[in-house]
Formats: sequence, C-alpha cells, structure tokens
Amino acid sequence: MSFTVHHPASVSDAVALAERYGADGRFLAGGTDLIIQIHRKRLASQHLIDLTGLAELRAIEDAGDEIRIGALATHKAIERNPLFQGALVALAEAARVVGGHQVRNVGTVGGNIANASPAADVVAPLLALEAEVVLQGAAATRRVRLRDFLAGPGRTMRGDGELVREVHVAKPPPRSATAFLKAGRRKAMEISVVCVAARLTLDDAGRCAAARIALGAVSATTMRAEAAERALEGALLTDDVLRDAGRLAAGACHPIDDVRASARYRRLLVEALVPRALARCVERISGRRS
Ligand SMILES: Cc1cc2nc3c(=O)[nH]c(=O)nc-3n(C[C@H](O)[C@H](O)[C@H](O)COP(=O)(O)OP(=O)(O)OC[C@H]3O[C@@H](n4cnc5c(N)ncnc54)[C@H](O)[C@@H]3O)c2cc1C
Repeated sequence: MSFTVHHPASVSDAVALAERYGADGRFLAGGTDLIIQIHRKRLASQHLIDLTGLAELRAIEDAGDEIRIGALATHKAIERNPLFQGALVALAEAARVVGGHQVRNVGTVGGNIANASPAADVVAPLLALEAEVVLQGAAATRRVRLRDFLAGPGRTMRGDGELVREVHVAKPPPRSATAFLKAGRRKAMEISVVCVAARLTLDDAGRCAAARIALGAVSATTMRAEAAERALEGALLTDDVLRDAGRLAAGACHPIDDVRASARYRRLLVEALVPRALARCVERISGRRS
C-alpha cells in the first residue's frame, strides 16, 4: 500500500495533522511496531505523522519530585540515563531487554505504551511505579494514570488525534527499590513470555510499607497484582511471605495459551518470578545488591 509521510515542525502541528486525518492518520515514532503492522496489512493508514524530528519529545528530565520522560525517549536512552539507577533501576532493566540494539536505538517509550501490547516490557515497571501519561490533543492536554490508559490488547483510552507527549514517574521515597525480570524462550530479541516488575518500600523496622507488582503477558493488558500487594504491606518479608505473594499473583492473572507458552507455564513463571523480583528489591534496599 502507499501512504504519505508528514514531517510536522512542532507538537501542535503534529496534533493538528492527526486531527485533520482522523482514522486515516497514525503517529510514527521508531516504527518498530507500526511499520510491521502496515507490512502485515493489519493497518491501512494513509497518512503517517513522523514525530522523529520533534526534539522536545526526546527529553528525560529530573523535575524535582518526579522524572518526566518524553514520548520519543528511546529504550537505549532510558537504559543509559543515570536517573534510572538506584530506586528506578527497573526501568533501565526493562529497556535493556527490549529487542536487540537496533530496536532499542529507535524504539520509544511512547510507542511501547501507545501500542498497548500486553507483553510490552517498559510498561511493566511504569505500572509498578504508578506512572501517569500526558496526552496532548488539539483542544486540550490531560494527564491520566497509565493503568487507566491501557484498555486491552492494542487498545488505549487515547482519544482521536491525541498524542502521548510524556510519561511522569514519581520518585519513590527513601528505603525503596525496584526490580524487573523477564522470561522468554531465549535471552535476546524475544518478546516476553512473562515479565514482572516490583517496587517495594520498607519502613525502619524492616516491614513492607508499600508494595507494587506489575505483570506482563498474562492478561489483556499489563496488570497489577493487587491481592499480592495487600498481603505484603505491613508484613515482615520472610521467604514464606514472598512465596505467598507469588501464589496470589499467579492466581490473579489470566494468561492464555499461545505460540510462546501455555497458560499453565505462564502462571508457574509468575509464581516463581514475583518472589524473586521482590527479594531483589529487598536486597537492593539493604545494599546487598546494586
Ligand atoms: C525485532 C523486534 C523485537 C522487539 N522486541 C520487543 C521486546 O523485547 N519488548 C517490547 O516491549 N517490545 C518489543 N518490540 C516492539 C517495539 O520495539 C516496542 O514496542 C517499541 O517501544 C515501539 O516503539 P516505536 O517508537 O517503534 O513505536 P511505533 O512503531 O512508531 O508506534 C507504535 C504505535 O504507537 C503509536 N505511537 C507511537 N508514538 C506515539 C505517540 N507519541 N503518541 C501516540 N501514539 C504513538 C503509533 O501510531 C503506533 O500505533 C520489538 C519489535 C521488533 C521489531
């Protein structure tokens, strides 16, 4: 099929083009999902609105209490940015295992979110960090919770013509840590069979003050394992408590059988990876692991 590629000079121009072309228009970032979908004839967009010239969308900024990640920040940029060390390291861990170097050099966080694959790696730590998404439309800009933004496989609550402009992540309080683990059929260039992101905050007595667990590739959207989170909060994090959290998370997800793995295997992976990710957070808070 043929299509026209537009090169807007500003974000407002990009949004105006999206409004003008409606369902016939698509934003183009790294193209690592979009171009494949067009080739496979799953999409028939006639107008591609190329965002790659919009430098203002690439910034990753420390804004005091939160980090602002521009939608065009690539996985490679996240992997290398020192802001994603320490308590936010799960974001760098997820970005580091997206595809191969070529994909990470051009694939973006905005594309990962907007494409809304249930297996999108960077979405899992963002969900565990309770990230918010800034959407810019022709008439207004709004900020929504990432968990509300994700509506189903390939579906979001993005309005017609709305651009994902940036993602905001609050800095976790002291004595917090994050971890990301991914299981695939091989180590590189692999979509997740299951991925898990965890965020923990411990109080001074070593009890869990807050827990967030996000699971990828086991339901229609990346999901939070809330029953497991509740079971952790207030508890001393013994091995048994972590294992129980894994069981609760496995019981809450809704995996499917597909070409990559059976639903049963995915549940077993969740049960194993959740305690491991939580234990990694505990080690990081105690300084036993970087
Ligand atoms: C070989 C290969 C391996 C891969 N491996 C992984 C992997 O391991 N893990 C993983 O998570 N993903 C993987 N992917 C998928 C893909 O690389 C990522 O999802 C990537 O983040 C998509 O970003 P992009 O910039 O390329 O998006 P694009 O392909 O440009 O866009 C994807 C979708 O998002 C929309 N979009 C893009 N930016 C915006 C915006 N700012 N506002 C609104 N809509 C927007 C587009 O219109 C399109 O519908 C892989 C892809 C390939 C080709």
